[in-house]
Amino acid sequence: MEPVRHQQTSVILAPDALTTYVAEIFEKAGCSQTEAGCIATRLVGANLRGHDSHGVIRVPRYVDALQRGLVHAGQTVDVITENDVMAVLDGKFGFGQWIGEQAVDAGIEKARANGVAIIALRNSGHLGRIGDWAERAAAQGLVSIHMVNVKNSLLVAPFGGRDRRMSTSPFCAGIPMPSGIPVVLDFATSAAAEGKALVALSGGKPLPEGALITADGSLTNDPLHLYGPQSPDQIPNPNLGPGALRTFGDHKGSGLNFLMEIMAGALTGTGANGPIVDKQKRNVGNGMLSIYMAPAVFGSTDGFATEVRNYIDFVKSSRPAEAGGEVLVPGEKELKTMAQRSADGLPLSENAWQNIVSTGDQVGAQRPG
Ligand code: NAD
Repeated sequence: MEPVRHQQTSVILAPDALTTYVAEIFEKAGCSQTEAGCIATRLVGANLRGHDSHGVIRVPRYVDALQRGLVHAGQTVDVITENDVMAVLDGKFGFGQWIGEQAVDAGIEKARANGVAIIALRNSGHLGRIGDWAERAAAQGLVSIHMVNVKNSLLVAPFGGRDRRMSTSPFCAGIPMPSGIPVVLDFATSAAAEGKALVALSGGKPLPEGALITADGSLTNDPLHLYGPQSPDQIPNPNLGPGALRTFGDHKGSGLNFLMEIMAGALTGTGANGPIVDKQKRNVGNGMLSIYMAPAVFGSTDGFATEVRNYIDFVKSSRPAEAGGEVLVPGEKELKTMAQRSADGLPLSENAWQNIVSTGDQVGAQRPG
């Protein structure tokens, strides 16, 4: 089979109309109206913030997982164990956008009552953009830290290795601000999120040089090493390529990735990754260990906000490295992108859009006019 490289043409979509269409796809596929709306809003929200990797490009894959029984509609988390300040919750492979809300709300409730909380979420469907969860906690005045693994997804080689032993394991933290706009640090511990490779494969933004390692140990940015040869009508599968993503930051990123697997995999009960026995039937899902903290418990909420504001101003007062450049703090880039895309519409590669439309047609959703 010859590799297929997709055309670099793109479409511009109105966020509201896209949300309505994506929600209809999930409703037709078997979700309640509320759950479908929740999934659609979060996917389009990721596109609005510039994280196309975790946006609507996932629709075909999510619907396929639902139809194959690998993710389930309408799930409520099971409480495995809990006390005033912690809980272990089982997401039973419900949609991550839906399960994530339940887990985060449990953490918010406990932290608001007791000052701090730790929530270990196991077996969630794909939780999407993890920044969503930090933003949800920040909206309730809470600092939060989220450590995530991707169970049954081996896409990343450890530092010094060329074989897949790790997942893209994101790390995220959020800090509430009096303005209502939180500081949100949110990234995959791989050199690029898998979805960014998917975007590149679909004709979107190319990956950074050296984001991948080939089977023979050379560095590349060609996503075909992750996906393998593609036929035009298949949903790209990152498990089929001979190469691997690399971790960011050499040994440091590799170490952080290792830690995510331990915290979000081993400690939550999701399980850390290991050899994958049945590649077709595996449930790819997330474990997430989240820590919630009310600033008031550590001193004064206002004092904390002043410290953060002052530090942001100090950091941003650095002279730019390049003429015309700007120092950004975590979350700022996403805010700028959201303002621009809310006004101008969402760009999506033609190929990604056609894949969404064919999924929509397959479940009987009305194509947008
Ligand atoms: P990324 O490389 O774009 O990094 C994003 C972070 O860096 C943000 O906090 C952003 O504000 C900050 N940032 C970006 N540009 C900056 C600049 N110029 N100066 C200062 N800070 C800057 O993110 P990524 O690694 O591609 O991850 C994308 C998304 O993928 C994230 O939302 C992550 O949660 C998600 N993800 C999810 C899973 C999952 O299994 N659910 C797995 C991997 C990644």
